[in-house]
Amino acid sequence: MEKKEVFVTETVLPERELFMEYVGNIFDSHTLTNQGAMLTQLEKELKEYLDVPYLNLCNNGTLALQLGIRLYGWNGKKIITTPFTYVATASALLWEGASPVFADIDSETLCLDPARVEEILRRDSSIAGILPVHVYGNACDVEAFERLSQKYGMPVFYDGAHAFGSFYRGHSLLSFGNASICSFHATKIFHTVEGGCLIMHTQKEDSEAKLLRAFGHIGDEHISLGINAKLSELHAAMGLALLPVLPEILRKRAENCKLYDKLLDIQENPALRSVRLRKGLEWNHAYYPIIFKTSELCDAALEALRKCRINPRRYFYPSLTKLPYVKGQSCPIAEDICGRVLCLPLWPDMGHDLIGRIAEIILKSLA
Ligand SMILES: *Cc1c(COP(=O)(O)O)cnc(C)c1O
Repeated sequence: MEKKEVFVTETVLPERELFMEYVGNIFDSHTLTNQGAMLTQLEKELKEYLDVPYLNLCNNGTLALQLGIRLYGWNGKKIITTPFTYVATASALLWEGASPVFADIDSETLCLDPARVEEILRRDSSIAGILPVHVYGNACDVEAFERLSQKYGMPVFYDGAHAFGSFYRGHSLLSFGNASICSFHATKIFHTVEGGCLIMHTQKEDSEAKLLRAFGHIGDEHISLGINAKLSELHAAMGLALLPVLPEILRKRAENCKLYDKLLDIQENPALRSVRLRKGLEWNHAYYPIIFKTSELCDAALEALRKCRINPRRYFYPSLTKLPYVKGQSCPIAEDICGRVLCLPLWPDMGHDLIGRIAEIILKSLA
């Protein structure tokens, strides 16, 4: 039994002094929001790190998704997406008046399967776009989606909420496709408390995104319908103070995942497997997912852990095909996997002894 309850993650906080220094800027400049100096600085540093030409910080990842959906004019349109993701991927579509059409996932990478996507594209000419998710920071089959995008003449817009710090063939995973979003929520690998960004690749789209983000006007000139999706200086301060520790965050997460792999004997354990990462991926270790052979084994492990006050998460359960507010669709692979997967507690400074206890409880539950 853990003295302190354990959750799936613990938010990383920056060095207190450094954060306070950034907060001090707010008192000096008296600028709290609306394209302040710290927001501009953070956007610049993120663009450099991700090597993308345009990036708009937003007050959360979900609104960044909604801005992209607006920008592509997907209102009233059918969009192919995955049922194996956080609910925000589908709810952003629905909130913007688009209809999610679920295609099944690849059973090894757990990302949207381009072959299933093409089956739908072939029989339904009314599909307007594709919204895949880089699940757990793993890479979607970006080459296949690029081909589909060209062949069927529609944008591919990635939900890259988990993808910060993942690089595929030397490029940030967030640089692929026509556009991507990332989430900088406190539970994510890098955060601004609440926050996110929209990454697009043309100046025209970038200007439109800026308008959508801030009420659709510049001074007295009202250009288009907009909303308020701006990120404040206080949030930007958190991001700036955390960026220097990003390499350490990534290194420690990788170390912890390696230890889990070893203790669970993940390569040889007949009851467990890990998600297959795409070749060419430098993974960010955003989560530590394990897939059980059966849902009974998964339930048993979950119960044993909870008894010890350890709370892994069923990312993602249920399959979004089961949402009460979407019309009946079925994706058997996602519906099967979602009952057999757990994301184990993971954060940079979690003690190795805790990882040991978690692994032990799981192995015992399997016996
Ligand atoms: C976290 C998450 C989001 C939403 O991001 P917020 O910043 O919390 O709004 C969207 N999609 C996925 C896959 C996520 O994990």
